[in-house]
Amino acid sequence: MSGRGHHAPDTPVGRLPHPDKSPRVANRAPHTGVAETSSFDTVSHYFDVAADRLGIPEDLRTVVRTAYREIQVQIPVKLRDHGIHVFSGYRVQHNGARGPFKGGIRYHERVNLDEVRALAALMTWKTAIVNIPFGGAKGGVNCPAQDLDETELQLITRSFVDKIAGVLGPTRDIPAPDVNTNAQVMAWMMDEYGKLHGDAPAVVTGKPISLGGSRGRESATGRGVVCAYREAAHALGVRPDATRVVIQGFGNVGSWAARIITQLGCRLIGVSDTTGALHSQAGIDPEALARHLAEGGKLVDFADAEGAIGVEAITPSELMGLECEVLIPAALGGAIHVANADSIRARMVIEGANNPTTPGADEILDANGVLVIPDVLANAGGVVVSYFEWVQNLQHVSWEEREVNDRLAKIMRRAYGEVQERAKRGDLVPLRIAAYELGIERVLEATRMRGYGGYA
Ligand code: NAD
Repeated sequence: MSGRGHHAPDTPVGRLPHPDKSPRVANRAPHTGVAETSSFDTVSHYFDVAADRLGIPEDLRTVVRTAYREIQVQIPVKLRDHGIHVFSGYRVQHNGARGPFKGGIRYHERVNLDEVRALAALMTWKTAIVNIPFGGAKGGVNCPAQDLDETELQLITRSFVDKIAGVLGPTRDIPAPDVNTNAQVMAWMMDEYGKLHGDAPAVVTGKPISLGGSRGRESATGRGVVCAYREAAHALGVRPDATRVVIQGFGNVGSWAARIITQLGCRLIGVSDTTGALHSQAGIDPEALARHLAEGGKLVDFADAEGAIGVEAITPSELMGLECEVLIPAALGGAIHVANADSIRARMVIEGANNPTTPGADEILDANGVLVIPDVLANAGGVVVSYFEWVQNLQHVSWEEREVNDRLAKIMRRAYGEVQERAKRGDLVPLRIAAYELGIERVLEATRMRGYGGYA
C-alpha cells in the first residue's frame, strides 16, 4: 500500500508521576489496560504520511504542523485535606486559519503537554474534515478528577480560566467538555470568563441547556459515531441485526454510542470502564447499565444486578479480543497498540476516543483487513454540535433536538462520503490517510489565502 514510508512510532510511555502524593490520590484504583504512545508522535506520523502523498514542501509543513500558541499555567489549590496541591493547566491553540480555535478541556492525572498538543492538532484536522469554520485547540489539567469533590473541581476550573481567559473568547478560542469534564464544568468556565469580560455564552460549548447549551450536545459524539457506523456498515454490507458491538469506555461517548447503536438493532456484547469489563452474547442493555451507574453502582458489579441476565465479568484484554463486527474504543489514547492489535477480531474499529490506535497497531489492523474509521472523522459529532451551539448562542435562538440531530447526520454523512471517495481515488488508502489529506488541504488553502500570518 502506498504512503507507508514512515516508521510507525509505538513506544509505550509509562504513567507520569503525579505531583500530588496525598494518600487520597495515591490510593486510586490502577489504570486498567490502556498502553500509551507519545501522542504527538502518533498524530505527526499520520500527518507526515498524508503530507508526503500531497507533496507538501517542508516549510509549509512546519507552518501547519506546529502549534500557534502553547500555554502552561500553575494551578495551586487548597483541597479538603488542607494541603496545597499544585496542578498544571494547559491550553494549546494549534491552528486558527479556518476560524476560532476549538477543542475540549480534559481533567486527568496523566494530562501533559505532549498529549494536549497532539489532541489540539487532531482538532485542526477534524474541524476541517467535517468542514465547520473552526481551528483546532485542546486543554487540560493534570488533576485526579474522580477523586475530587464538586467544590475542588470548581476551584480548579475557575483558577484555570482566570489564567487563560486572555486567549479565550467567542471569536478567539472556545473550549468544550472532554474526559472528566461536563456541562457543569462548562457552566463554571462561562461564569468565570463572564466576570472578567462580560457575559458571553458562546465562549464555551457543551453548557447546560439552561445556560445556552444545545439540545443534542450531550449525545452528539456518540450519535456521530453511530452515523459513521451506518455509512461503514452500508459500504461493507453489514446489517444492524447482525452487528455485535464491543465498547471500551462507558462515559459520555461510549454510553451514548451504546444507547443509539442498540436502538438501530445492533447487539452490545461487551463493554468496559476503569472498574473492569463485561460480556454477554445475548446482549447488554445500555439503558439498564446507565441506570445502574447513575444509582452509584460500579460497571463490574452490573453482572450481578437485576435484569443483567447472562452478563459475566471478563478481563479488559479479553474484551478487546471479543469477536464482533464493531469495536468502539471510547476511553483514552493508545488503547489499541502493537501488543493487542493482532488479537482484535472486529470487522471495523470506529474510533470514538481520540488517538486510540498507535501507528504500529494501525498497520496491523490494516493488514488484517479491519476497517478503521478514524477519530478525526468518527468522533467529530461532538464538535459539530458544539458548532451548532455556538451558532445558536450568537443568534440568540434555540433549535429543537430533532433539528440538531438531522443537521448532524447530514454533516457526518457528507464528511464520510468525501473521505471514502478520496480513499477510493487514492488507490484505496486507509480512511485515516484520506481524511488527513482532506483536512490538511483545507487548512493549507485557508492558510495560503490569509497570507501565512497569525490569527486570533
Ligand atoms: P468520559 O470521562 O465521559 O468517559 C471516559 C470513559 O472511559 C469512562 O467510562 C472511564 O471509566 C473509561 N475508561 C478510562 N480508562 C479506561 C480504561 N483503561 N479501560 C476502559 N475504560 C476506561 O470521557 P468522554 O467524554 O466519553 O471521552 C472519551 C474519549 O472520547 C476521549 O478520548 C475523548 O477525547 C474522546 N472524545 C470525546 C468527545 C466528547 O464530546 N466528550 C468528543 C470527541 C472525542
